[in-house]
Amino acid sequence: MIPAIATVCLSGTLPEKLHAIAQAGFKDVEIFESDLIAYHGSPADVKRLCDDLGLNIITVQPFRDFEGYDEPRRGKTFDRVERKFDLLQALGADLLFVCSSVSPEAHGGIERLSADFNELGERAAKRGLRAGFEALAWGRFVHDYRDAWEIVRRAAHPSVGLILDSFHILARGTELQSMAAIPADRVFFVQIADAPKLDLDYLSWSRHWRCMPGQGELDLSGFMDALGAMNYRGPLSLEIFNDRFRAGSARSVAIDGRRSLIALIDDASKRAKRALGRMEPLPLRPTVKAVEFVEFSVDEAERHQFYALLRGLGFTLSGKHRSKDVVLFKQGDIRIVVNSDKEGFAHSYNMSHGTSVCAIALRVSDAQTTVARAEALLEEPYAGAIGPGELALPAVRGLGGSLIYFVDDQSELSRWADVDFEACTDEPSDVGLRSIDHISQTMQYEEMLTWVLYYTSLLTTQKLPAQAVMDPGGVVQSQVIEAGIDDNRGGLRLVLNGSQSHRTLSSRFVTEFFGSGVQHIAFETDDIITTMERLVAHGVAILPIPDNYYDDLDAKLEFDDASLAKLKKLNIMFDRDAKGTFFQAYTQSLPGGLFFEIVQRNQYTGYGAPNAAIRLVAQARLIRPDTLPRR
Ligand code: MG
Ligand code: MG
Repeated sequence: MIPAIATVCLSGTLPEKLHAIAQAGFKDVEIFESDLIAYHGSPADVKRLCDDLGLNIITVQPFRDFEGYDEPRRGKTFDRVERKFDLLQALGADLLFVCSSVSPEAHGGIERLSADFNELGERAAKRGLRAGFEALAWGRFVHDYRDAWEIVRRAAHPSVGLILDSFHILARGTELQSMAAIPADRVFFVQIADAPKLDLDYLSWSRHWRCMPGQGELDLSGFMDALGAMNYRGPLSLEIFNDRFRAGSARSVAIDGRRSLIALIDDASKRAKRALGRMEPLPLRPTVKAVEFVEFSVDEAERHQFYALLRGLGFTLSGKHRSKDVVLFKQGDIRIVVNSDKEGFAHSYNMSHGTSVCAIALRVSDAQTTVARAEALLEEPYAGAIGPGELALPAVRGLGGSLIYFVDDQSELSRWADVDFEACTDEPSDVGLRSIDHISQTMQYEEMLTWVLYYTSLLTTQKLPAQAVMDPGGVVQSQVIEAGIDDNRGGLRLVLNGSQSHRTLSSRFVTEFFGSGVQHIAFETDDIITTMERLVAHGVAILPIPDNYYDDLDAKLEFDDASLAKLKKLNIMFDRDAKGTFFQAYTQSLPGGLFFEIVQRNQYTGYGAPNAAIRLVAQARLIRPDTLPRR
């Protein structure tokens, strides 16, 4: 299959779109009709531009309301076809893209429709062109690819073929097995799009919510396997109508598009055990075993305060870097590197972000192949690939210009702490934190799908359904990505948050922090009561939760009076799911907005979503205290 893209996916003018498409490495493009109509140059100008950019124009789409008319409308429609053929020839394209009619004046009937397509084939053949037929999910008479195929089959013309679009098929839940029975040479073109599962009419769902393969929830694997079984070899073209992409950067959306297709075709090839595209197989997706360490960049002025916070949280200073101004704090399986060196990546990151997480290190199945896979997915590995110390850790650029390092068990990389750090002994102040439970990254709403694709295409991951959380300043969208969670332990749990409202805490974090990044890290304990009592004794400022929360919790009859009083005193919140129970509490935010969470998970698999709105109000209140109405 050959990766291609429709201009409708991107923002900008037609030349801007074509440049972005060529820069992302595409060779084939379908031009959306309104992009062409809105353009000031002639079709010949567009062809010249595409020639210069090395782009082949497959089609101009769509040609609407073709089939099923009575005369004289039928004759007029064929006149329109001839004009469109002129245009295709001026552009050097050879495929007329017909989508099923929605016209109230059209008629159904398989004989009539196949006769229309037979005549279309005759006219196309005279010019050396072809015509393809796509069933729109909301087509009036034809909305199922199996019906469209029957019409194409009965049209019995070599210049007439079928066009498949994953959205129209998967949105209606049409079975995919029948695809394998269609001869591959009768399928002229395939369009591909993913989408979140929404309870919406097909047209609105399609026009606003399509997304790149891997960013949504449709069964694209099943669709790709059906194309593979059919032995389809033609273009696989992204046709994504998405409001976020239209507002985003054409260049990065085009790169995301190409990345999504590379991963999609490679995954399908691996399942089929043979190459379905023309590219080199990608290195296998690595599994994530654990978060190896989190690196903070903290400048000299804030360093002592930050050390004090870490000690309050129970961390012990356990290593000093042999040559740099970098230290290592530990507790349980949690390792935190604090980098205050005046040179290097962490320092430059600190200049623009202040006290922040500048890198996350993941322990994966194989660090080198992870970076090789990233490179094949158009990710720039970080030049210089230097970890917090002397040992060069392979790395790629992550969210907001931060880094993700990779270490593994089989190479020297796992010894980074011994190689780079001299052990030292601090007063132990353990509060019972055992591991990193999850990391929450906050970003612009428009970038969320990019980062979903980044993680899901690079690593072996699982995506949970997206959620909307209420913040006092608007809605925050939240997407959980999990990797390598084994028996509810280990691996990586990421919560990606983004908000369109400028008044939410998420948005303020992005603005005040000068960009996207880690907003909070949750640590896991086996005994949250003891942990929180120790944090309070250490003087760590805890986020106060309103009394009303505990009155409400009391009404749920989960706890006896003494237990409830303890939760209330320690500002611990509670949730329950089908599998178990969950306790969570938060520290107050640092000036830049960063904070920590303490959780206790008893078989529970969620993230305390019902409590998120309460937490957001509590945090907002500390920034802007309530003013009660005066009487
Ligand atoms: Mg389509
Ligand atoms: Mg959390």
